Amino acid sequence: MMPPAIATCADLVVLPKWSAAEDRNVELRRIRKHRVLNLIRENSETSRAELARSTGYNLPNISSIVEELVRDGLVHEAPARETPRGRRPVPISLNDDAAMALGIELGVKSTTGVLVNLRGAILFRHEAPTPAFESFDARVRWAVEFVGAVLRGHREHLLPLAGIGVAIPGLVATREGVDFDHRSVAEPVRLALGEAFGVPVLVDNDARMMALGALWFGAGRELATFVTINVTYGLGCGIVINRRICHGAFRTAGEIGHLPLGEHGVPCYCGGTACLENVASGSGLLRMAKTAGLHVTDVRALAARARSGDATALTVFARFADALGHGIATVSNLLSPQAVILSGPVCENSDLFLDRVRAFVRAQTLPAFLDPPQVIVSELGFNSGALGACASVLHHIFNVSHLQLEEVF
Ligand SMILES: [Zn+2]
Repeated sequence: MMPPAIATCADLVVLPKWSAAEDRNVELRRIRKHRVLNLIRENSETSRAELARSTGYNLPNISSIVEELVRDGLVHEAPARETPRGRRPVPISLNDDAAMALGIELGVKSTTGVLVNLRGAILFRHEAPTPAFESFDARVRWAVEFVGAVLRGHREHLLPLAGIGVAIPGLVATREGVDFDHRSVAEPVRLALGEAFGVPVLVDNDARMMALGALWFGAGRELATFVTINVTYGLGCGIVINRRICHGAFRTAGEIGHLPLGEHGVPCYCGGTACLENVASGSGLLRMAKTAGLHVTDVRALAARARSGDATALTVFARFADALGHGIATVSNLLSPQAVILSGPVCENSDLFLDRVRAFVRAQTLPAFLDPPQVIVSELGFNSGALGACASVLHHIFNVSHLQLEEVF
């Protein structure tokens, strides 16, 4: 399939370079440029003098960076204004529409794509049912086809593409998109999309992407330490500590679904026999429904039965809620988060479990907690994963925190 002809600005995403020392000065200047760009984004109108004060860089340095950003089309500088009291500082602001980021969530049942501009405003959204795949290759081809369809569908109105973020379910061991696990589709997807569309591609586990999405677009904007739990076919968790995503030593942190807090004797694909996600997930709900003799094909049908007062369906949701509460209480006792943000398609039925989950968490977290974590459902709804994937691109444009600070300053 031929990719659509689109404008790109592929060098806008700052990826870590582990390369030669002689590139260091060039790289440091580039990172400083992006730090200034981020300050311009955060302060709706700023000036060269203010930027020099905030960064500690000298004024000639700031001026040279700002001139480069203006030349790149990334920021606007208004004309200098003379007033009776002298020359006013020249206001500098971000050009929100200088570029866009594409985020996609490759869900088990559906695939969602969202395009945002540099300010994070949603430009377009696209959703399609995810087909059943017979092979890794088919899954990779689907990702390329889907992105092509999103871009083709809006090609008349597109901004230059800076990068693509991809949220995928399951174990993803990545270091800035480099996958070390040959069983995962992450690396093949990253390579195929990069080749097809000529921009950097960042792939990560869907729950971690949702955590980034909450930081940039959702309830996490006001929080320092929180977890996101993706309740979908499986159960995933993104951990944010002091506004940084926690990946763990082997970059697989957050596998809450495989905590041994489920029903004993239920085999899991990971080899465990009491994994939480065999109860507290979409597949867990359907498994329990089947065992209880209910014939339903999906979670929506089960939820409809519960809302109509079916006692068996209500019991299944109660078991699900207690297990999810068990997982949340465990994570809360370990990490003391300010909030637990629930996302994923099963949350459209939160009327059937949220109160019970909250009660379980209140009862099971340490009594010493004066303020137990809030348990809330993400307001980003079905866009949580795709917006998180967009956020991963914006994060690499505006935020240099993925690099070691000592490399930067
Ligand atoms: Zn397991």
